[in-house]
Amino acid sequence: MNSKHDCLFCDIAAKKIPADIIHESEDLIVFHDINPEAPLHCLIIPRIHIATINDLNAKNSSIVGSMYEAAAEVAENFNVAKKGYRVVMNCNKDAGQSVFHIHLHLLAGRQLSWPPG
Ligand code: AMP
Ligand code: ZN
Repeated sequence: MNSKHDCLFCDIAAKKIPADIIHESEDLIVFHDINPEAPLHCLIIPRIHIATINDLNAKNSSIVGSMYEAAAEVAENFNVAKKGYRVVMNCNKDAGQSVFHIHLHLLAGRQLSWPPG
């Protein structure tokens, strides 16, 4: 598992690596996914490094509520709130997590199938 010293999303949050940023706050940053799976596909990440959902605890987990609030705000701003959207967070290998800094995917703009593959 990556440490925060070797983390793509920490580098994006620190502006060491460019991203197509949609929204920033003191705690969060939202940017377009580089390989979109839907007409709107963005990632909502905390500025603090948390590798996986398994690393959430009583001290850091309130950030997840803020991530969902940001997702709802972005959905509203991109006019998909009423039509619908999906937010999903993958955890570890079987779910396909490839970047070990928690992120909410926000997908919208097409009919999304269920269950996901
Ligand atoms: P996951 O597989 O759930 O860990 O999601 C990681 C996501 O990060 C994938 O959807 C990638 O397309 C996306 N991604 C990887 N590198 C970048 C990058 N430099 N900028 C934006 N999105 C990225
Ligand atoms: Zn990180």
